[in-house]
Amino acid sequence: MADLDTFRAETRTWLEANCPASMRTPMVEEEVVWGGRKQEWVNPDSKVWLDRMAEKGWTAPTWPKAYGGGGLSKAEAIVLDQEMKRINARAPLASFGLWMLGPVLLEYANEEQKKRFLPDIVAGKTRWCQGYSEPGAGSDLASLQTKCEDKGDHWLINGSKIWTSYANYADWIFCLVRTDTTKKHEGISFVLFDMTSPGVETRPILLISGSSPFCETFFTDVKVPKDQMVGTPGKGWDIAKRLLQYERQNISATGFGADRSSGPSLGDIAKRYVGLNKYGVLADGDLRGRIAKQMMYEQAFALTIRRNTELAKAGADVGPATSIIKYAAAKMNQTKTELQVEAMGHQGLGWAGDGFRPGELMATRAMLRAKGNSIEGGTSEVNLNVVAKRVLGLRDHQ
Ligand SMILES: Cc1cc2nc3c(=O)[nH]c(=O)nc-3n(C[C@H](O)[C@H](O)[C@H](O)COP(=O)(O)OP(=O)(O)OC[C@H]3O[C@@H](n4cnc5c(N)ncnc54)[C@H](O)[C@@H]3O)c2cc1C
Repeated sequence: MADLDTFRAETRTWLEANCPASMRTPMVEEEVVWGGRKQEWVNPDSKVWLDRMAEKGWTAPTWPKAYGGGGLSKAEAIVLDQEMKRINARAPLASFGLWMLGPVLLEYANEEQKKRFLPDIVAGKTRWCQGYSEPGAGSDLASLQTKCEDKGDHWLINGSKIWTSYANYADWIFCLVRTDTTKKHEGISFVLFDMTSPGVETRPILLISGSSPFCETFFTDVKVPKDQMVGTPGKGWDIAKRLLQYERQNISATGFGADRSSGPSLGDIAKRYVGLNKYGVLADGDLRGRIAKQMMYEQAFALTIRRNTELAKAGADVGPATSIIKYAAAKMNQTKTELQVEAMGHQGLGWAGDGFRPGELMATRAMLRAKGNSIEGGTSEVNLNVVAKRVLGLRDHQ
């Protein structure tokens, strides 16, 4: 305990000395640092902050020092988190490498692969994308067809992926491929390759929200070195499933980025646009009731996340339970963004122009973007199936 107190004191001093003032303010979407070769530094302090944190391995506090991590115990990592929150320090790096790939590499990769890939994830030098979904393989992911042939000294990859988030900005891809066409799950392998490899092409897909966060990704005779397959050929499905658990866990823990939002609360927005009645409460009784319900849901959600985190720290297997949280997080964010637009009335329906404030334009886009929350990282229906089978132990109805 004394050790932990010492660690807290040292951490507090270090953070005070090293976290730039502008990194202690709420972050807007454009300022999120994803790292990689194409990173543009909107705020130069972001780079200073990332480099300092990465040097200590604190972008990945519990990963072993041998791979660039902080080597902290779980208790120390909690202290670091608490001390960062105390000064409102921003997360220095957002990264599929940190959230999804790194944890499975630690579990499944060989020593050489860990040493090669993990330090660059910690330092934010490599930005990764996720090549899972295909036009004919989404919920039934194991139907994937992207072909990976053994050509002796290399793998040869042909096929296509879809909905690959930020593939056009990514440096490398972790990709599910088929090495054996005679078996379904046992024919899948997990490979890593550079997005600048000849034969890789990305085409961004434009969304209803006006943004383009993902791509169609094509592979034509892409040569991949033999040592870039993780695990043995045909054993990629176990890695794929594990990674999905980390993905859902992470989506859920951040409530789809809701914890990064710096704007006014839903209640404050409603008060401003709808006004108060003579009793000093929101004038629209029906909306008031629904906003109160949403606030209770959010509070219950936050407590559930806390309980789950504690259980995970105590060593419980909370893997399948991440599906409950992912399902609830999607519903929560969709309802929240819909209520926000509703509370704004006509002003919440703006798309462009001087008649609307930036917050109003963002509300419309956020509401449309949230529609994807019940699809990305596994649809709500599929997550309910996981809950039914793996959490509640119910059997399939044929
Ligand atoms: C914002 C966003 C980002 C994404 N990013 C990535 C990414 O980076 N990489 C990547 O690989 N993929 C990504 N995806 C793709 C995502 O994983 C798939 O869209 C998702 O798995 C669903 O697959 P699908 O679109 O093929 O739909 P389908 O599987 O065709 O499903 C269609 C409908 O049928 C329902 N359904 C299907 N099977 C069942 C069942 N057994 N029981 C009940 N209902 C069922 C589904 O719930 C859904 O409503 C992203 C998607 C979104 C929206």
